[in-house]
Amino acid sequence: MLIGPGGAGKGTLARLLTSKDPHLWLSRSWTTRPRRPGEDDDAYVFVDRAEFEERARSGGFVEFAEFLGNLYGTPWPQPPDGSDVLLEIDLQGARQVLARYHDATVVLLVPPSTDVQRERMLERGDSLDQVQERLAKSKEEIEGGRAIARHVVVNCDIGASVAELEAIVEATRSGRREKDC
Ligand code: 5GP
Repeated sequence: MLIGPGGAGKGTLARLLTSKDPHLWLSRSWTTRPRRPGEDDDAYVFVDRAEFEERARSGGFVEFAEFLGNLYGTPWPQPPDGSDVLLEIDLQGARQVLARYHDATVVLLVPPSTDVQRERMLERGDSLDQVQERLAKSKEEIEGGRAIARHVVVNCDIGASVAELEAIVEATRSGRREKDC
């Protein structure tokens, strides 16, 4: 799982990582958040609250949580055979997944500074209010994230962060192979 505050670069890194690794499968979440201008159609399954709640009631999510007024949820993953699953989710969701899958690996991604974080959110089209809200929530996301994360990556440079994440994925896979044999 990749967790961290808004503007840390989770979405960009999750997409880069999965595009480079054919055996890493990125789950597509559902959300009630409206699509941002310019955001890819397939960034999420965008639904209204009624549809989301119906799926949640029928047990269709591994985890779901409310984040700043919108619902986000992970459908039960259906990765291709032989693939590992990558979730890009918030702290509450990561805690739920860990309660179910104790050996899941959590990586906390943090921005190098508040200025960079703010800039990234403005660039992707968040309003000033949204940026403020997300910045205010950051401390909780980082402190809570540190408590459950196996690795912390400071995202100064996208290229270096991808390399760091690739190394974490490989180390996790080899740790698992060792456990299995
Ligand atoms: P955003 O609105 O910026 O796309 O996402 C807001 C927060 O929700 C981010 O921390 C993001 O990682 C998280 N998020 C995205 N998908 C899910 C999900 O399926 N479940 C949970 N719990 N959080 C999610």
